[in-house]
Amino acid sequence: MKSQKKHVLGRTLMIITDLIAPIGELLRRQAAERPQALAFRDKDRSVTYGELAERTARIASYLQANGVGPGDRVAIHLPNSVDWVEACLGIVRAGAVAVPMSFDATTEEITYRIKDAQCVAAFGRPQRLDLLREASPAIHVIAFENGEGEAGAEGSAGQPPRDPLDMERPAFIIYTSGTTGRAKGVVLSLQGMLWVTAACWAPIAGLSADDYVLNSLPLYHSYALNLAVVSIVATGASEYLMESFSTSRLAEVLANEPITLLPGVPTVFHYMLERAKEEGRRTLSNVRICLSAGAVLPGPLNQEFESWFGVKLLDGYGITETSTMVTLNSPRGSRIMGSCGLPLPGLATRVIDLYGRDVEPGSEGELIVRGPNVMLGYHNNPEATASALRDGWYHTGDLARLDRFGFLSITGRLKEIIIRGGQNIAPAEVEEAIFAHESVLDCAVVGIPHKFLGEVPVAFIIPRDGHQLDEAVILAHCQARLSSYKIPHVVHVVAEIPRTASGKIQRFKLKELLREA
Ligand code: AMP
Repeated sequence: MKSQKKHVLGRTLMIITDLIAPIGELLRRQAAERPQALAFRDKDRSVTYGELAERTARIASYLQANGVGPGDRVAIHLPNSVDWVEACLGIVRAGAVAVPMSFDATTEEITYRIKDAQCVAAFGRPQRLDLLREASPAIHVIAFENGEGEAGAEGSAGQPPRDPLDMERPAFIIYTSGTTGRAKGVVLSLQGMLWVTAACWAPIAGLSADDYVLNSLPLYHSYALNLAVVSIVATGASEYLMESFSTSRLAEVLANEPITLLPGVPTVFHYMLERAKEEGRRTLSNVRICLSAGAVLPGPLNQEFESWFGVKLLDGYGITETSTMVTLNSPRGSRIMGSCGLPLPGLATRVIDLYGRDVEPGSEGELIVRGPNVMLGYHNNPEATASALRDGWYHTGDLARLDRFGFLSITGRLKEIIIRGGQNIAPAEVEEAIFAHESVLDCAVVGIPHKFLGEVPVAFIIPRDGHQLDEAVILAHCQARLSSYKIPHVVHVVAEIPRTASGKIQRFKLKELLREA
């Protein structure tokens, strides 16, 4: 028995160290072992691992031949697609730094990112190249659509890709979602990203070459860049890429493709459940695991989703600055609904008070993290880097509780705390209480200035289809669940709650709405 255990441990360690290797090596390995296996597919085309290894080498050669040097920044302005993945892997194989940008970004946002990262080249759709030229007249624009364009063309292969062996160097600059202030460029290494594959997705979620992942998350965000691009290549899994999330399209893909793993943000699972309930449909076809990250997954939603579909929905906590994951619930071990799980093995986590002292287990404080996945820093921003990274510890700005068994719960953002007459209110706690009402589809809580109390909480709610809700019902519901100082001052019934692509509530937009009103 003992020797069998040893054998399993040895094999696991081997698999884990195998996963951390330069992209060129990972691709060569997959291409040698499973050349015909599907790597990525979108609505227009697909590539096998054999083709992906070859095509990304060609893109890297093209970049090198066109003057892109090691460490140069290259922007990606493409929708979620196989093109996106090929461009990104090609950039990294050329030893350059990939700078992903939202395809829906405004001209101002694109200009800011291209200038801030000093990009020398940019991949874009042929019909939208002007946008990139406008941002920086000197930039080398590369038209790329459906695998066609000079960068991917046969015969463009010249010098072999640099395929740098140093994995600790910058490989990606990801602009944070920016729920507040100007977006900062988070510099990440391939080593940090693949450490997450090796410590989280492969051993905990069981991601392997047997999986077929359905990704609707935006690839320019760290969650998808890690799980849906880098980790797919490292494990040899296959993936279907949706351009963006829609419940009907998702149901269609699930019905037609043998998907086994479904990542998303809480709102995705929320809408999937709502639709399935309307249709009386209880199946998710071949899906074995759903993964949620990016924002708080309310315990009641987690429970209802699992009992409705009979599929595990695992909450994990990820941050761009930690190359994504810090915690993930295990499909095998015990779980506490509403907790985002145990910190990944090998990662140090602490919850501290305002003076930097560790708080008692179960008490609230700021979460700080140290480990191999922590960012290299913010691009060209030593002040922001020094304030976020202290003695190797990344200060997350998230309020959290670690219970005595090590389970982590995120209770809010330091900056979002509402201080009502000197008492602290975490909007997330009020939102969770409101979510427990069966007629609530979505909700958000923000603080607004108050003449005597400093600030008071205000709630925005969306009722479920066919349900009637008003302020009095929500207030009575809150009174039974929250201390009186946490009860919203006003409740607005609305049709929409603004969220980022990674599911986060854009509280500043709600505050703007209130100011305008
Ligand atoms: P981003 O850098 O855009 O990925 O955003 C990271 C932030 O998302 C974290 O600092 C948290 O505030 C939030 N977040 C991510 N995952 C979770 C989760 N599972 N539960 C609660 N908040 C989360």
